[in-house]
Amino acid sequence: GADRPKNVLVLMSDTGGGHRASAEAIRDAFRLEFGDEYRVFVKDLGKEHAGWPLNDMERTYKFMVKHVSLWKVAFHGTYPRWVHCSYLAALAALYARFHAGVDRCYCPSEEVSKRALLEGLKPSQIRVFGLPVRPSFCRAVLNKDDLREELEMHPHLPAVLLMGGGEGMGPVEKTAMALGEALFDEELGKPIGQIVVICGRNQILSSTLQSTEWRIPVKIRGFETQMEKWMGACDCIITKAGPGTIAEALIRGLPIILNDFIPGQEVGNIPYVVENGAGAFSKSPKETASLVARWFGPDRDELKKFSGNALKLARPGAVFDIVKDIHQLVQQRGPMERISYSLTSSFSYAI
Ligand code: UDP
Repeated sequence: GADRPKNVLVLMSDTGGGHRASAEAIRDAFRLEFGDEYRVFVKDLGKEHAGWPLNDMERTYKFMVKHVSLWKVAFHGTYPRWVHCSYLAALAALYARFHAGVDRCYCPSEEVSKRALLEGLKPSQIRVFGLPVRPSFCRAVLNKDDLREELEMHPHLPAVLLMGGGEGMGPVEKTAMALGEALFDEELGKPIGQIVVICGRNQILSSTLQSTEWRIPVKIRGFETQMEKWMGACDCIITKAGPGTIAEALIRGLPIILNDFIPGQEVGNIPYVVENGAGAFSKSPKETASLVARWFGPDRDELKKFSGNALKLARPGAVFDIVKDIHQLVQQRGPMERISYSLTSSFSYAI
């Protein structure tokens, strides 16, 4: 009957932090929007099924029949009425190609949708809603002063958030050191800003920074589960060009300095940020640090302008648009139909 829950299987590769964050975004949005009507299962293929031909839906199906454990996840408790939500980001990044047989391809930006068209997808298959970001992020009403108190930060000094994806990648250590210098006013003998470093799973980075002496207020953290709070408490962000972090920073209106990128899948995110006036790109820690110092000093207006542009680019409702669209398709197709989706996870591919 109509009350039976429908199953959604999200296939992803748990590398970095972005894939998991997007999968959780989809899961949480289904729950908020449709309650018990959908059950969402998130499967990490990277760990458990490396080498599996993700790009072939037909073989995917056969694979699932053969491998009982995965089958159980997909069909758990019900007859075959399920939604196959395939998360092909890792694959798309590797091959920069899109599967022409999907029912829907959700693109985070117009640039990616153009790419999908070039790969042979029809406009009717493509939707551009934005990158799915966890609802805790887009729905939160956060007050900066309260957050700073909760997070035990300095209440007034402008704050820069420094991170490098889930793994703490990129020139984080050198940039932190350069910021420590640039944000200390030698003449006045006092800080003009504070730093938050989120090291993610990079424990060496975290312990190196912990054992450093600082002349300005610094918070050094490991893998954080409430990124929306740290972003809400800061005034700008320095990060590698990860799409998850960028999408979240845009929602929080944080000007972004990109200091690194994963070749291929992330390089296109740089013009996306820079050309839309939401930030800058620099590989030099010194240059990055002096830009932040200017933003916290004489160039405050520029910081504000970038922040406004970031908010204009933000798509906080994307994840809800995506689950509502999937729901509509399910309603149109009826319960016996197998429906597949792919989500692409960068703002632009340039391979
Ligand atoms: N992230 C997190 N806690 C951390 C570090 C990162 O939740 O301590 C999240 C971050 O908010 C973002 C994702 O991990 O959603 C990183 O995704 P991105 O696409 O930027 O880079 P990736 O780590 O996937 O290469």
